[in-house]
Amino acid sequence: MSGKLPEAPAPWPVRRSRALLAPRLREAATRAARRLQGQKEAACAAYPQGEAMRRRAVEAKRRALRRLDALLAQLTERVEARGGHVVRARWPEDVARYVLEVARRRGARRIVKSKSMTTEEVELNAHLEAAGLEVRETDLGEYIVQLAGERPAHILVPAAHKSRADVRRLFAREAERTGETPPAGESPEELTAFARRRLRQEFLEAEIGITGGNFLVAETGTLVLITNEGNGRMVTSLPPVHIAVVGIEKVVATWEELADLIQQPPLSGVGQRLTSYVSLLSGPRRPDELDGPEEFHLILLDNGRSELLGTDFEDVLRCIRCGACLNVCPVFRAVGGGHAYGSVYSGPVGVVLTPLLAGLESAPELPESLCSMCHACGEACPMEIDLPGHILRLRRQEAARGLEPRGFATALALWARLWSTLAGFLLSARLGRLGQGLWRREGRLTGGPGPLSAWFVGRDMAPLAPESFHEWWRRRGGAR
Ligand code: SF4
Repeated sequence: MSGKLPEAPAPWPVRRSRALLAPRLREAATRAARRLQGQKEAACAAYPQGEAMRRRAVEAKRRALRRLDALLAQLTERVEARGGHVVRARWPEDVARYVLEVARRRGARRIVKSKSMTTEEVELNAHLEAAGLEVRETDLGEYIVQLAGERPAHILVPAAHKSRADVRRLFAREAERTGETPPAGESPEELTAFARRRLRQEFLEAEIGITGGNFLVAETGTLVLITNEGNGRMVTSLPPVHIAVVGIEKVVATWEELADLIQQPPLSGVGQRLTSYVSLLSGPRRPDELDGPEEFHLILLDNGRSELLGTDFEDVLRCIRCGACLNVCPVFRAVGGGHAYGSVYSGPVGVVLTPLLAGLESAPELPESLCSMCHACGEACPMEIDLPGHILRLRRQEAARGLEPRGFATALALWARLWSTLAGFLLSARLGRLGQGLWRREGRLTGGPGPLSAWFVGRDMAPLAPESFHEWWRRRGGAR
């Protein structure tokens, strides 16, 4: 709990160098991504009927985006009819302002949170802590990265980069701060027992619980939360106030549509048909109910989303944050996960979503440097979002606005001219083989002449083979 306002992410060259110099992060990201991808493949192969459901889920989201305003109006009316409060937050500051108003009115100081990408997107914790509130993440992975003062490494596995020894050290430090008994060892049982003891106390003491939301059902005004740890239930039922911060695009019309959608995040993300806990929340506690909050507030976050409606990028609003595109992305693995992206959204979805929400000028490196155009993300996305197409569109916008690194456009133009004729291609390959020794370091090519050097900023490549295929073919007497 730093008590500071959010800091801007480190500049791209710094993040890039850190990523390239952190082999442990790379290994952890690769291990987590491969495991999740393998689980998804096995689950989908064992469940072929899921494909029809997936297609219906895509259509449900398409329909919902076409009548978003009407669905949000219906949702608002239903939530308010049950005694809840609904507000629209145009910008991140609006979310923090509203939460602080509620906290002041209730005299609240302690807040518990369940995992929520939207609150990370608006950097809510930093705003609340700067105002003197105590905020505690209660998802185990988020709790670990919060204690470490870091950002999540993966949408689904925030602490994928932490070893058991790291976690034990963090918990021992926390135990010292709170006067608790530290974990005796570093087995999963000992570590989770410490977290459970510590977090139980936080749940009981908190005056406000904050969550995100996976879906909203307009016909009944219901907030849907899917979790695997059960902390979401504690956050929404123990504190007297529950505030949910949810993107406007999360609304669907009916329960029937929800039935198709609810399976998609766990199936595509971790290969589970359903998460362990599904919470369906429709307002504050009623007089005949035993538990639940006295107040329920739903903050509908826009933050640039409504501007995507009706554009080429509208399908990005179908994203269900399943993480499947991260798990297949070779660049995500190579840069060691989420930290290199400088934003809460990482992997291919982050490469597209961050510039769309925060402005291309604020993150031109994402589409330009953090994609190898392999198209694996487009194939993996259960919601059929055209991620590779969007990355190309963003690159075109960058070129049109002059946001690419200096010399990059000249290098590409030169390359295109050389390789548009066979003679140019053969000549450049020959010159490349002759001159590449000048830029060879530890078996890799790390630079090039003139404007070509721009391409090598943050990249390297395998050296050219001593003999081209054409030469090898001719030497063997092959026909032309
Ligand atoms: S873009 Fe597609 S694959 Fe990636 S997180 Fe969103 S829904 Fe999942």
